[in-house]
Amino acid sequence: MPRKLTPADLERYKALLLHLRMELSGDISDLENDAFVTDGERAPVDSPADVGSDSFAQEFSLELLARDEATLNDVVEALDRIRAGTYGLCEECGEPIPRPRLSAVPHARNCIDCQRRLEEAS
Ligand SMILES: [Zn+2]
Repeated sequence: MPRKLTPADLERYKALLLHLRMELSGDISDLENDAFVTDGERAPVDSPADVGSDSFAQEFSLELLARDEATLNDVVEALDRIRAGTYGLCEECGEPIPRPRLSAVPHARNCIDCQRRLEEAS
């Protein structure tokens, strides 16, 4: 059974989360610029093959964008939980989430067991 997080642990995860939030919000504005650039601003396209790869790149950016926004949302909620004093507890079973998992995924909501169960259920 993992020990509860110490204030020093919380500070460390908070720093990780703040860094992630900065990185993700930076990425999102970059991706938005890529995905929503107007045709007029693009270099002229010569061959039909280029048109195809171009719209593929645009779709790909939009997909990344959706995933980043979901992650960013998780990060923001994790920061809220640090403030509320519930950070590091599994939302499903209420047990502390093991530190190695929080170090890998500081915005994790669930312990690995519950996460696995949720993924199987969906
Ligand atoms: Zn759990």
